[in-house]
Amino acid sequence: MIILVINSGSSSLKYQVRDSGTGERLANGLIERIGDSAHGGPADHTEALDRVTEQLEASLQGRPIDAVGHRVVHGGERFSEPVLITNEIIRAIERLNPLAPLHNPANVQGIRAIAERWPDMPQVAVFDTAFHRTLPEHAWRYAVPDELYKKFGIRRYGFHGTSFEYVTRHAAALLGMPAEEFTGVLAHLGNGASVTAVQNGRSIDTSMGFTPLEGLVMGTRSGDIDPSILLFLSREGYSEEDLDRLLNRESGLKGLTGHNDMRSIEESSDAVGTMALDIASYRLAKYIGGYHVAVGGSQALVFTAGIGENSWRFRERVVNRLAALGVYIDDAENQKPGGSPREISTEESAFPVLVVPTDEEAAIAEATAAVVVSA
Ligand code: AMP
Repeated sequence: MIILVINSGSSSLKYQVRDSGTGERLANGLIERIGDSAHGGPADHTEALDRVTEQLEASLQGRPIDAVGHRVVHGGERFSEPVLITNEIIRAIERLNPLAPLHNPANVQGIRAIAERWPDMPQVAVFDTAFHRTLPEHAWRYAVPDELYKKFGIRRYGFHGTSFEYVTRHAAALLGMPAEEFTGVLAHLGNGASVTAVQNGRSIDTSMGFTPLEGLVMGTRSGDIDPSILLFLSREGYSEEDLDRLLNRESGLKGLTGHNDMRSIEESSDAVGTMALDIASYRLAKYIGGYHVAVGGSQALVFTAGIGENSWRFRERVVNRLAALGVYIDDAENQKPGGSPREISTEESAFPVLVVPTDEEAAIAEATAAVVVSA
């Protein structure tokens, strides 16, 4: 099937066209500045879709699209699997807007734009939170009064689920076992970063929480901090917007070094950059140790996404902190570039360390085709 995969943000729309059977990428693009027609951007998501359609006419040469798959950030407690989109599903996604105020409304705008243009097109929502619906209560519940959960849905949801599900399957395949038997720790290290504990193919803990801010040191996000820092700063006169900007866009590697991009930090190799990498790798190593316990002994550690797949230096920093687990990296294997799943640990390592490239668009295309076929 030919699947149009849409990742719709508030001011941008990313798309890819994939053949779900072969995995081949037939087209891709990015429409930016939605809502900024003064600077040449489309006025809204419907107009952005007009531009996508124009671009697709050129690249697909008349091949029709069979279905559209949408990346939807928040599926709340309701969605544990990809679903065929109906009006009721759109309303359910909109009810989750308070949990993802920047993302879910934009995802819905993308869905509505497609429905307006192609009313009969099957559309599927693939949720970033769905893979983590298997978290046990002791992992998803925060130690706060129950009314916060009941009234506001405050709990751990976890994100990057589409990537973790895909990487679980491909890591299991590399180890020659079914995904349902895979037990290990997966680190998705991109601009956003999170780590997940997988036991028998199911997510049982993950570092992102109520929002994608918790957990690891990220490109521009702080990850874990003492929540009292927010109270302190608010008493010091920081507004809600100030705190949001500070923790989501001005912290993490950017806050520590001035750069959010791993490559720039590795290239500069100064003391400030080195400390930032120490902080980030130490944080990740602590999570890996904790999740090793959570899964009852990992059988693999897997790196994925921009940094996880490409930065051998960062992988080395992390694994060098794991000697207590008996895990050792093979320098030559680790430093070899390569785009396919591979093992980078030594034979003595207590369990294998893997690099498994993620491909969220392929995962969304596969899931979309599966839902449409079974509908
Ligand atoms: P993603 O969000 O998955 O696209 O990952 C983005 C991050 O990956 C950025 O911090 C990039 O600097 C980092 N990255 C991409 N390629 C490399 C590379 N060759 N070496 C180090 N970091 C890289």
